[in-house]
Amino acid sequence: MTTPMRCDILTLFPDMILATLGHSMLKRAQEKGLLEVRVRNVREFAESRHLVADDVPYGGGAGMVMKAEPLFRAVESLRREYQETGPGDELRLLLPSPQGRPFTQRVADEFSRERRRLVFLCGHYEGVDERVRVGLRPEEISIGDYVLTGGELPALVMIDAAVRLIPGVLGDPESAQHESFIDALLDYPQYTRPAEVCGLTVPEVLRSGNHDAIRRWRRKEALRSTYLKRPDLLRDRAFNEEDRQLLDDITREESREAPVKCTEEG
Ligand code: SAM
Repeated sequence: MTTPMRCDILTLFPDMILATLGHSMLKRAQEKGLLEVRVRNVREFAESRHLVADDVPYGGGAGMVMKAEPLFRAVESLRREYQETGPGDELRLLLPSPQGRPFTQRVADEFSRERRRLVFLCGHYEGVDERVRVGLRPEEISIGDYVLTGGELPALVMIDAAVRLIPGVLGDPESAQHESFIDALLDYPQYTRPAEVCGLTVPEVLRSGNHDAIRRWRRKEALRSTYLKRPDLLRDRAFNEEDRQLLDDITREESREAPVKCTEEG
């Protein structure tokens, strides 16, 4: 029996999370017992009568900052609660942040195998009081070099990417094996019926039933997509003989595809 991925999300906007968890693969993973997510409103851990969880920044400036104490209390409450449940309930604290280490397929894979509880501390507004980072020492993780409004979407992105790697979540376990980044290559192009759309046809080889030719075509097209769209992924990579040969063909074919430059002389 596969251990479920267990997540706690601390947020000021629980409905943002709950709305997404109730659909598609995330919903099915929970129904199959392969994903457990508990969402807590950080406001419940605020001390004041008005449940204030954010305040103006020291030193002035725009926006609000999420207060540290409600997050400290929320984490403490999780620690108390799960310690009672038994060993293996340690928390892995994660702070979605544009300043964090990049979230990649490799990190998604790591999360999908994580036995500890993944606790996402979702910032909002101008971010969280720095003492959360210093006091709780969460891992800062970024989903890209851009700034979002809050940590809710990043938390969902990370859970989605990780949970689909858990055996049993996807209908066909092979699906996750043949995707972009799994082999540090982009995915090959996919086609479905009909065989012709607006004069555009499906490559003949995919209808040939020749499994080895299909495998080779897919490998070549994965290499081509990577070569054209993300050449950085091919740098410093060791290739076997077949890949080297395919790449030589691709380089030749693509240089032939280059637009012809017209000169004065014609
Ligand atoms: N002032 C912060 C900074 O520049 O580092 C950005 C605060 S952002 C408006 C509010 C929250 O959104 C952050 O605390 C973080 O939780 C989340 N967030 C924004 N962009 C993110 C990204 N690229 N990856 C992960 N989390 C992000």
